[in-house]
Amino acid sequence: MKEIDLRSDTVTRPTSGMLKAIMSAEVGDDVYKEDPTVNALEEKLAKMFGMDEALFFPTGSMANQAAIKLHTQPAEQLICDKWAHVFNYEGGGASFNSGVSCKLVDGDRGMITAAQIEENINPPDFYHSPLTSLVCLENTTNKGGGACYDLEEIKEIRKLCNKHGLGLHLDGARLFNALVAKNEDPKDYGKLFDTISVCLSKGLGTPMGSVLIGNKELMKGAMRVRKVLGGGMRQVGFMAAAGVYALDHHIDRLAIDHKRASEIGKTLDGQNYVKLVEEVETNIVIFYLRDGSKEEDFMKELQRENIRISNMGQGKLRIVTHLDYSEEMHKKFLGVLEQMEL
Ligand SMILES: *Cc1c(COP(=O)(O)O)cnc(C)c1O
Repeated sequence: MKEIDLRSDTVTRPTSGMLKAIMSAEVGDDVYKEDPTVNALEEKLAKMFGMDEALFFPTGSMANQAAIKLHTQPAEQLICDKWAHVFNYEGGGASFNSGVSCKLVDGDRGMITAAQIEENINPPDFYHSPLTSLVCLENTTNKGGGACYDLEEIKEIRKLCNKHGLGLHLDGARLFNALVAKNEDPKDYGKLFDTISVCLSKGLGTPMGSVLIGNKELMKGAMRVRKVLGGGMRQVGFMAAAGVYALDHHIDRLAIDHKRASEIGKTLDGQNYVKLVEEVETNIVIFYLRDGSKEEDFMKELQRENIRISNMGQGKLRIVTHLDYSEEMHKKFLGVLEQMEL
């Protein structure tokens, strides 16, 4: 059997249907906004979320960084969870690209509440502190193990942002996992956020690409910011075609990834070498080994069976299910977990 790679949902290869869509895409120069497939992808997502505009980006990090730039001025501050991707995994881009600092909130599995945010807003007339101008949420959370926000909490956060004149950005790299898991409508998110980034290259299974979706006023400068960040691309409709295909064919099937992740969580929970499995809500399983068991040894045992997972440090192990993780692989993996002795 092929290698079972559970390190991330970014490891997938395009399916034959997706390859066909890529091969037959009509393309043009997207820097001139003349690529009909990119334009179609952007329109499709803007419509899906009930927002005015969307813009295709090479990566999710660049889409988030562009959003931060659109919302802030240098020396201002954004509020996010201490585990947020925008703070931890974008190379310090918030300070480099936008000159802003991050006020980190000690949230629950990567999620923060309206009350916690309110405590962290600097008084706007106290000029000694950075001016708070933006709140960034992440749904589902990455480091928080695929946890999903409660939409009611986001509504409270929106009200708070309105009250204090703050922008509200959603890092929705895995938003489609949340929408499927909670049976939510993307338009509800479009109503609550000023900008939303979504990844096509995670659970949706394209080779690359993210999209920033937002309302007219803020998106006015988006093309310029993308250009400055080096993200203006030419005949990128080939990749947008993969995105359109994924939106049509790969959203509903995320439920399969969630079911398998939940089964992995249950199996791990029953093993004596496991100390704790975090609640599994979507396609990510985070767990810890019993004291005395080494993560390196566990990973080596798996490697022997041609299985790879992620070690996130501080005892945290991560498994992510995806499009290229088949039922056959799933059965084998559960069997390996049940028989392992550490
Ligand atoms: C993957 C991911 C991104 C974007 O990552 P890129 O590798 O730059 O595409 C952004 N936010 C979260 C939460 C992610 O998991």
